[in-house]
Amino acid sequence: MPFPLRRVFPFLLVVAIAAFVEVPAVAEPLRLSIVHVNDWDRLDAKDRAGGAAKIASIARYERDRVEAEGGQVLLTFGGDMISPSLLSGFDKGAHMIALANVIGFNAAVLGNHEFDFGPEVLIERLKEAKYPVLGSNISYKGEPGFPGAERSLLVEAGEYKVGLLGLTTTDTPSLSSSGPDVAFAPLAEAAAEITEALRAQGADLVIALTHAVYQNDLETLRQVAGIDIVLGGHDHLVLVLYDGKQAILKSGSQGNFVGIMDILIDRVEGRSGPQLVWQPSFSMVNTIDVEEDPEVAQRVAGYKSELDKELAVDIGLTEVALDTRRASVRTGENAFGNLVADAMRVATGADAALTNGGGIRGDTTYIPGRVLTRKDILTELPFGNRTVTMRLKGSDLKAALENGVSKVEEGAGRFPHVSGISFAYAGGKPAGARVTDVKIGDLPLDLGKVYVLATNDFVARGGDGYASLKNGKPVVDASSARLMASQVIEFIQSEGGVKTVVEGRVRRLD
Ligand SMILES: [Zn+2]
Repeated sequence: MPFPLRRVFPFLLVVAIAAFVEVPAVAEPLRLSIVHVNDWDRLDAKDRAGGAAKIASIARYERDRVEAEGGQVLLTFGGDMISPSLLSGFDKGAHMIALANVIGFNAAVLGNHEFDFGPEVLIERLKEAKYPVLGSNISYKGEPGFPGAERSLLVEAGEYKVGLLGLTTTDTPSLSSSGPDVAFAPLAEAAAEITEALRAQGADLVIALTHAVYQNDLETLRQVAGIDIVLGGHDHLVLVLYDGKQAILKSGSQGNFVGIMDILIDRVEGRSGPQLVWQPSFSMVNTIDVEEDPEVAQRVAGYKSELDKELAVDIGLTEVALDTRRASVRTGENAFGNLVADAMRVATGADAALTNGGGIRGDTTYIPGRVLTRKDILTELPFGNRTVTMRLKGSDLKAALENGVSKVEEGAGRFPHVSGISFAYAGGKPAGARVTDVKIGDLPLDLGKVYVLATNDFVARGGDGYASLKNGKPVVDASSARLMASQVIEFIQSEGGVKTVVEGRVRRLD
């Protein structure tokens, strides 16, 4: 047995069954085991946890175990699968759907990342999925629903009917590239309507798959009493919450944890006729010690060698010398830094772009004439950082630049590489009062004006001291969450090579 849960379960079973002995049953009780994963875009294990083959292993173990007892397993996914990852940058997430088909999910909800490549690509991915994908609060071109997605599901489980709906966070337009044709209705509003319809169709138990922060889940449960269980995602929390009536379960991310909610469902004679009762047991499995499913592990190995081939592909020749040595990218304007910032600005259509020198890690030099491969770019940008865009006041942008040069004497990773921006600074002056002559495009920075800035998700969260960037508001309809590395690769290809030079974007005065 690859998955050693036996030692925990017998005790839990006794507790759950004991709750049912006092009332006469009017139907056969059913064991329904929900196995839930969310926010999974990573092929294999990292630090021994997560990845496709471990998820598959737990699903298989649980199916064998529960079906042998006459029960049923529901393998569910809480959204965010097809992006962002290195291989998704090349196949737009097709390999993830293929893996999910093999693992055998029974139902999924659309996450914001499902829209990263735009709605047309998602429609293609949904055609490939062999399991139903729910989008209950989504409308497309003014009509309820999304092509290839279900608004609700009714699943037969023994003598019971389980209703499912799926809710996607309403800020998806600002987090991904869902575009003008896709709209997201308020979660509780859509949930109330679909839950009522499912109950009318005879659903004994209603499960909402959600891709939203848990505060939204709590609100949805409070407003829609007809929902029994929320299986969530999006905020990457490992969470079990149960108040005796309604439950929420979230399984972290990447399959590092897999949540199992083992329910005993029964219909008993109540005061006003037959009544459904259900009792949950919860397990949150850390997958570190779970053996990989050999068949899925083999597929993962195939995808990794495909990725290696993709990475070996030439993308263009550098016409200029590039120097990504640590000291070079942390102490002054740098041609490679300019290249990255240009790619981010062009890909997003932002007014300006800023990225931190500490995110450039190749620590090497490239002579003119060197042909760059995709792997070179991923070696330079290894963190999987994503490009976000925000609306930011000029004063906050100025503060960001001050932060960027505030520790230049230490060679700190915060040094800013910029595009669409130029400025001067005096390194000998006190930190916070070094920056002068800031221009956005050709015009002086207006401290009161709002600009659209592209930057990486790390500094946008305030990393490397960039606290003022936390004041920015996400931009609607921006390609806000694609990998920086993919954008740099595409930029080099579209430019026909690297021509970027040091041109006075960041000038040291002293
Ligand atoms: Zn998400």
